Amino acid sequence: MAGFGPSRYPAGTPTCPTWFWPGEQRVARLVDEFGLPVHDQWTTGGALVAADGVVRRIDRPVMPPSYRFTNGAISLVDGLAGRLPSGTVTVDCPVTRVERADDRVTIYTSQGSSTAGAVIAAVPPSLALDTGIIDPGDLEPSVAEAASSIPVWMGGVTKAVAIYPVPFWRQLGLSGTAFGPGQPFGEVHDMSGPDGTPAMLFGFGQAPLADPAEAFVEQLTALFGPKAAEPAQVLVVDWGRQPFTAPTRLGLTSRYDLYGSPHLTTPSWAGRLHWASTETATTAPGHIEGALAAAERTLGALLAP
Ligand SMILES: Cc1cc2nc3c(=O)[nH]c(=O)nc-3n(C[C@H](O)[C@H](O)[C@H](O)COP(=O)(O)OP(=O)(O)OC[C@H]3O[C@@H](n4cnc5c(N)ncnc54)[C@H](O)[C@@H]3O)c2cc1C
Repeated sequence: MAGFGPSRYPAGTPTCPTWFWPGEQRVARLVDEFGLPVHDQWTTGGALVAADGVVRRIDRPVMPPSYRFTNGAISLVDGLAGRLPSGTVTVDCPVTRVERADDRVTIYTSQGSSTAGAVIAAVPPSLALDTGIIDPGDLEPSVAEAASSIPVWMGGVTKAVAIYPVPFWRQLGLSGTAFGPGQPFGEVHDMSGPDGTPAMLFGFGQAPLADPAEAFVEQLTALFGPKAAEPAQVLVVDWGRQPFTAPTRLGLTSRYDLYGSPHLTTPSWAGRLHWASTETATTAPGHIEGALAAAERTLGALLAP
């Protein structure tokens, strides 16, 4: 496929988060610091709205400006990891349990256990409880209640990406943005690289689908015409079924009002358990910016004299 090089988007990257927005200062600072290539989200052209079997065209910008990591959000993660001394990061080593004993915590992993003075739970709190990493019985009841009910941001979403030889929708004067209330993919956007290469459309689906790739291409064809029927490749990830992202009892986590809740911005276990995922942030909770804000708060608490 023309122009889709592994150096620009490593395998799997396009289904990860890819946007950041004006005013997200922590992300912008790191982008600068690491010299990461970014480009504007393509918004030029008309948007489409499909409802009741009719596709309407809106010829004005409908999306606020945003930016994309040209090499995927993984480039930000790589930048951060690259600052740590070699050997600090261990992968493929899931934490299975964290327990408190007197003035220590013990962390059990698939490869053994270790003890520490404090632990940072940088995973969604509802995932930590759902997977048994942290026993709700070891928490204050109000904290256990908050941690088990707080949703994972977009944790139930299916993201589909269709890759094309060229961004043909732009030639039709379309931005690639489309909304389809009640359709399998409620939102569609252009996800192309700079200058339209690689050319991609992506969609967010809310409900589980039997064949999401087929449903996505069908929907794109109804919106953008026959050229949409022949993608070079379709990538799909149902994030609700990723065991390291979403709790199994996804439907029971709907308390978005708990984002940034004091139950989770305050450490548990007398300062030995810090909650640090994006859902705990008071700034931009749910976004990458929120994850950075939560990390800053946690570090501040741990380093405080
Ligand atoms: C489809 C989708 C699209 C999104 N798009 C955007 C976007 O465009 N822009 C944006 O700002 N945000 C977006 N988000 C949200 C963004 O992904 C989150 O804000 C961000 O990833 C949160 O970072 P985090 O460090 O808090 O948690 P995570 O990124 O979830 O990191 C937690 C890490 O812990 C690991 N982990 C889980 N369990 C264990 C275990 N037992 N042991 C060891 N490790 C474990 C996971 O593998 C993961 O690497 C999107 C989310 C989804 C699902």
